[in-house]
Amino acid sequence: MALSFPPRQLYYGGQVQPASSGKTFQTLNPATATPLADIQIASTSDIDAAIGAAEKAFPSWSQTPPIARARILQKAANLLRERNDEIARVETLDSGKAYTETSTVDVVTGADVLEYYANFIGGGGLNGETTQLREDAWVYTKKAPLGVCAGIGAWNYPIQIALWKSAACLAAGNTMVYKPSEFTPLHGLTLAEVYTEAGLPAGVFNVINGAGDVGAHLTSHPTIAKVSFTGQVATGMKVAGSASGNMKYVTMELGGKSPLIVCPDADLESAVDGAMMANFYSTGQVCTNGTRVFVPRSMKAVFEKRLLEKIPFVRAGPLFDEQTNFGPLSSAVHHEKVISYIRNGIEKDRATLLCGGPEKPNVPQDLQAGYWVKPTIFTDCTDSMSIVKEEIFGPVMSVLYYDTVEEAVQRANTTELGLAAGVFTKDLNQAHRVIDQLQAGITWINTWGESPAEMAVGGWKKSGLGVENGRRGIEAWLQNKSTLVDMSGAVATVFAKL
Ligand code: NDP
Repeated sequence: MALSFPPRQLYYGGQVQPASSGKTFQTLNPATATPLADIQIASTSDIDAAIGAAEKAFPSWSQTPPIARARILQKAANLLRERNDEIARVETLDSGKAYTETSTVDVVTGADVLEYYANFIGGGGLNGETTQLREDAWVYTKKAPLGVCAGIGAWNYPIQIALWKSAACLAAGNTMVYKPSEFTPLHGLTLAEVYTEAGLPAGVFNVINGAGDVGAHLTSHPTIAKVSFTGQVATGMKVAGSASGNMKYVTMELGGKSPLIVCPDADLESAVDGAMMANFYSTGQVCTNGTRVFVPRSMKAVFEKRLLEKIPFVRAGPLFDEQTNFGPLSSAVHHEKVISYIRNGIEKDRATLLCGGPEKPNVPQDLQAGYWVKPTIFTDCTDSMSIVKEEIFGPVMSVLYYDTVEEAVQRANTTELGLAAGVFTKDLNQAHRVIDQLQAGITWINTWGESPAEMAVGGWKKSGLGVENGRRGIEAWLQNKSTLVDMSGAVATVFAKL
């Protein structure tokens, strides 16, 4: 059967390169479980060659004036916006996300970050500081790039993740070898081609394909100065352990099990809309999902009623239909994982199933083989249930009832994870007090999920290390050099004649 896309090769040294392993894997359309393209797998010598290309490009790119780098990055952002619909179409086929989402979020929010850092460095954002110590002495600092960096992406926001990593990396003057998830590899080459068309010199951005072993070879390579990783906590701990043991810089964007606290005075409509977005957007495959929804016991009846009234607005269906806002899960293996959590919720945890369940939802005949799942809500959940404690990464909401806000905050923090958190309340003082007490790196008040380029995002506890985006995001791609200058003309030595 002819596949929808030609075979994908690797990209390094400014051009497409065939992989030398002779091995391939297929990427599938999750909506129909049909193959889309053969992807060539990088051998270790291909990975070394890509790293070599990035190493060769580093001296010149790192010394290119920030304003000149900014022009190239801005042009790449413009090209991405021009090609938005075409790229979004491929993302939809590869990831299973509805086109209503990929065409309005994935490419757009990636290009925004590129533009943000282009403006940032073009406007002097990489300047150091000067501190006058004495009349004749001062300290100045320089922000220096790190060198060749590795970017490892997850499958839930493929091109957005690639852009959030590469934008700050390249703006800071580093070069990058990027490995997409094997479940969603199609965007990699497209992004490399866009960068090249924008004027990025050969070797500055390179792409290799393959599974975890390819990622492991890349991230442990001695030339790699920094690893920026997005993925599961368990993989992240492994990768961070090996990288930091070799004194590489790391940024880890990992999983979460985030709490959303509805206060007794919250606007019901906003709180329910927030909970729906925090659980069913992108079919629940968002790292910052607010999957533990804490609701006052007194609101149980109204909250559940309103949730059930909104569930029909979750519309699974053909991914390019403009009504569809809910796609399948991204792969067979992930589907199996999510379904087994739903089964556990019913059979072992014995939570109350408000709606959804493990059965396939009603989708058209030609989509029956895809990895579809029903939006599922459990109520009367308790803190010890596996559906409440573990990241499911699917459309499964756990509603937990509480008696006092203090109790809700304390229970919300009883987790090893700390990616995101949020509160819904009309009381301004309470909003800030609760947010201040929640142990998470990304928090929202009376909203959920928006993550603009200006906002630094990253997890606390086991949800990660460091941040992406915003002014702080670029610091993670730079090292500091402090220089003390003394003009007194004499060195204050202790080794003088007594
Ligand atoms: P994984 O940890 O399974 O994989 C992430 C990436 O790491 C993939 O490219 C994977 O390759 C690669 N990889 C696997 N093993 C290794 C290794 N030993 N060395 C180097 N790289 C390796 O995560 P998922 O792809 O399943 O992504 C989902 C997870 O990502 C969720 O937990 C989610 O919360 C988290 N996430 C966090 C975000 C954040 O910003 N905090 C944002 C988005 C997602 P391959 O897949 O090809 O095997």
